[in-house]
Amino acid sequence: MSSDAPIHGGLHRDTLAVRAATPRSAYGENSEALYLTSGYVQPSAEASAARFAGEEDGYTYGRSGNPTVSSMELRLSALEGAEATLATSSGMSAILLMLLSLLKAGDHVVYSQSMFGSTIKLIGSEFARFGVNSTAVPQTDLDAWRAAITPNTKLLFAETPTNPLTEVCDMAALAEMAHAAGALLAVDNCFATPALQRPIEWGADIVMHSGTKYLDGQGRVMAGALCTTEQLVKEKLLPVIKNAGMVLSPFNAWVVLKGMETLDIRMRAQSERAHALAQVLEQHPAVARVLYPGLPSHPQHALAMRQMGNCGGALLSFELKADAPDQARARAFHVLNQLQTLSLCTNLGDTKTLLTHPASTSHGKLSEPQRQAAGIGQGLIRVAVGLEHLDDIRADLWRGLDTL
Ligand SMILES: *Cc1c(COP(=O)(O)O)cnc(C)c1O
Repeated sequence: MSSDAPIHGGLHRDTLAVRAATPRSAYGENSEALYLTSGYVQPSAEASAARFAGEEDGYTYGRSGNPTVSSMELRLSALEGAEATLATSSGMSAILLMLLSLLKAGDHVVYSQSMFGSTIKLIGSEFARFGVNSTAVPQTDLDAWRAAITPNTKLLFAETPTNPLTEVCDMAALAEMAHAAGALLAVDNCFATPALQRPIEWGADIVMHSGTKYLDGQGRVMAGALCTTEQLVKEKLLPVIKNAGMVLSPFNAWVVLKGMETLDIRMRAQSERAHALAQVLEQHPAVARVLYPGLPSHPQHALAMRQMGNCGGALLSFELKADAPDQARARAFHVLNQLQTLSLCTNLGDTKTLLTHPASTSHGKLSEPQRQAAGIGQGLIRVAVGLEHLDDIRADLWRGLDTL
């Protein structure tokens, strides 16, 4: 499980983060080339036929592959310890590709009820229209996962830690459960990233990414990916993406490729700030609770530390003390409206610290009872901690917290 173990031809993960890529072009560029082309000139009619028949490697058309996208895929495979990766146009299109490739009418999916909102809607509503059944279960209740599995279950899908409550699930236990049922385990690894957590080492079959978040890391482009076995990519995912077309643009692939070079140091620096902020927030008299996997008060602290290499990650949420939902909402809005340096922004995984109010944004469409059941109170604020100086992050938040 050691992250120091040499991989890929004896090179370490740190080295591969800056080196793994397709070969240099004839010009010898040191920074990886950006190939902006939708088509490829074929050396001969015979080669073209062989490439289209899948008998020979070689690029044909942008929907089937691009060398810059291949570089991004090779690098992410190296970081996740996966045999192969397939990049997609966004995180959601990675999930769409996975579901389209693995499921048919009558199949069943078990997923965590705490997953990303669009993931829940895609599985629970959109795929239900095509006869794919699903059951949402409490993230941390292994018995509920087990009880939900049916003879038709093909996929277990979890996210760990989750947004915005940072709930953690036991990946090894879920992998064992999935495999005993002849199903696959997929894990959304957006929050921890391969810098902290590599789900394949815990038995997951597919790792899903929104490259929009920490992989790019600077809030510039949308991207997604599925990391898994070579066989699954070749036999299931590639044939579908070639026809369905949710491919990653070469430019966005290049941005994410360069972003991954600093993923490890960014994740560690941002997590360090998040940990320190979580500790001081927990002491503030206006704060009812802080949700951060790195704090001993987190319900799955020990499991999180085991799975995430003793690091809590860069994202935390906190709940303000209040007597009623209306008051809680007013207090949260007050804190957010006092920000001068940090951003009120629906994204995460940026070098800039981003704050959101989940109850009025990502979870705004739920009824108040549904929101309460999901644990998303009106006083909850999510902080995706960036790289600003901790004193400045703290001062900007305390401006509101101290004037409630
Ligand atoms: C953002 C996000 C997604 C969706 O990714 P997009 O790139 O926005 O499509 C999925 N899962 C998690 C945990 C996310 O944070």
